[in-house]
Amino acid sequence: MSYRHRSNTGQELALPVGKVICVGRNYAEHALELNNPVPTEPILFIKPSTAVVDMRQPIGIPTEQGSCHVETEIALLIDTKLCRATERQAAEAIAGLGLGFDLTLRDVQNELKKNGLPWEMAKAFDGSCPLSGFLPVTRPEWDNIGLQLQLNGETQQYGNSIDMITPIVSLLVYISHHFTLLPGDVVLTGTPAGVCPLNIGDELIARVVDPVSELELAVETEIVSISDR
Ligand code: ZN
Repeated sequence: MSYRHRSNTGQELALPVGKVICVGRNYAEHALELNNPVPTEPILFIKPSTAVVDMRQPIGIPTEQGSCHVETEIALLIDTKLCRATERQAAEAIAGLGLGFDLTLRDVQNELKKNGLPWEMAKAFDGSCPLSGFLPVTRPEWDNIGLQLQLNGETQQYGNSIDMITPIVSLLVYISHHFTLLPGDVVLTGTPAGVCPLNIGDELIARVVDPVSELELAVETEIVSISDR
């Protein structure tokens, strides 16, 4: 089934599926757990639209390229073109709040990093970006969005956007000075600590919570081999 952006209730949204802009090391604790320096400016990379799949479906991971890590991230759906945007334009362009998994072939990435090569082979492969549906954005307090990943019943990742090195709206402004965002593009805002390898048969529950508008989204899914999808 081909992917379409959806609301949290499963309704198809009238937005095309565009690129996904991701930020690396936006939570200091996560940078440190992988022995990376905490960056002074956002580290950006892009996943193409072919990376996007529906998070509710079983998630197929490659099994023959070393470990595949899950990074649970707050996802933002954009519905207005942003080019060298102001903070206000950026905030108004966020149409939806959801969840994304930034699936990462960690062994491949470590090899690429060691050789100073780009990360796409590790992070932009087909199916590397499962996305949830999107909660409508009403009056969110962008600096107080909670997210959580439960893996096989245990809390594996827990974070809050207040701990981001570059906060959500500033991040959109920064991105829009490098890459124009178009309606239907998605921004993944970085992962908190607790990233871990996935195994076939793992059961995942991801949650994002906006305590101000009291909106919560939870997605239950499972891990399968990519050849079984
Ligand atoms: Zn990530």
